[in-house]
Amino acid sequence: MSLYDEFMKKSMIRQFHCGVQNETHKPLAKAFTADKKDYDQSPERMERLKKMLMKSQIGRETLDFLKEKGSDLVFEDMRYYGYFAPDKNLVALSPRFSDEDLAITFVHEVRHARQDSIMSNTTPDMTPQTMLKNGFLIEADACAAECVLAHQMMDKGDNSIFEAHQKTAYAPMSTAFEKEFAKSKDWNKARDAAFMQWFHLPVKPSYATQYIDFMKEIAKDGSNEWFQHDMDIKKMAGKLCLDSDGKCYIGNAKMIEAPERLNISEKQAAAMIQAVKPFMKKNNRSAEKMGLDKIYVAHADGSYTTVRDEMKKQNAKQNTAIRNAAAKGRRGGR
Ligand SMILES: [Zn+2]
Repeated sequence: MSLYDEFMKKSMIRQFHCGVQNETHKPLAKAFTADKKDYDQSPERMERLKKMLMKSQIGRETLDFLKEKGSDLVFEDMRYYGYFAPDKNLVALSPRFSDEDLAITFVHEVRHARQDSIMSNTTPDMTPQTMLKNGFLIEADACAAECVLAHQMMDKGDNSIFEAHQKTAYAPMSTAFEKEFAKSKDWNKARDAAFMQWFHLPVKPSYATQYIDFMKEIAKDGSNEWFQHDMDIKKMAGKLCLDSDGKCYIGNAKMIEAPERLNISEKQAAAMIQAVKPFMKKNNRSAEKMGLDKIYVAHADGSYTTVRDEMKKQNAKQNTAIRNAAAKGRRGGR
């Protein structure tokens, strides 16, 4: 089992993907307070759900993909919407949510399965920068697929998915999709707009935290083969962010690497530095080789620095402290 699989098992990163950490998520809050009762897990409900999905192109594609893979789709009672378990070849949905929420979850989770089949999602040999942009990219792509479902259902005269989506913390994405579509009538431009909106959601930092936690594990392992592989964002988007015809829907993938998107908080930067510093020393790895000069840190005043900048600041502070202590020592000796 790979280090990442091991980590996934422990932290259940996939489950986090679907909003368990997201307290503002209304349907989720409802689930937490709901009395324990028998939720509808009947085969009839599953059929109803599938029928709803069949109405849209992306729903049909998603069901077909699952069939081709020979994966099972089942109900499983849990507090979060659902998950995809590659090892069991299984997609599970929680019956305590509405059909609309489950249709959205289904498209999202199977999108991850599709990504998995194209390239392994996250591996320890990726540089921290590549790991972060890859993590953001796969999540934004899965969320953008939800907006396609919402739009296609509206096209068929069914607004229920869009309305359900609008009640979630991901609403700005479906809003961006519709706004762009109204303007350009271009599916891929609309999908791109939804994708780019993901980077401004309040849920984004929780994903960064997950990947920083993974970096901690890798750094602890300490092997020199880790944190080496840098990937080109255009190539990554070209492989993963595809429409139904296999065409990349991202207009300018470089935008993902911009400070306002590829950023973490000051606190997260401090945690990342603490995690990777001993690794860098041990393996003689520079901040640039780790891509730390291309991970941005967002500050309260709206400015950005990089993790490398923060590392330098920290080193300077420590050096001053050491010099001061030495000076004090000399004074004391007199
Ligand atoms: Zn996800």
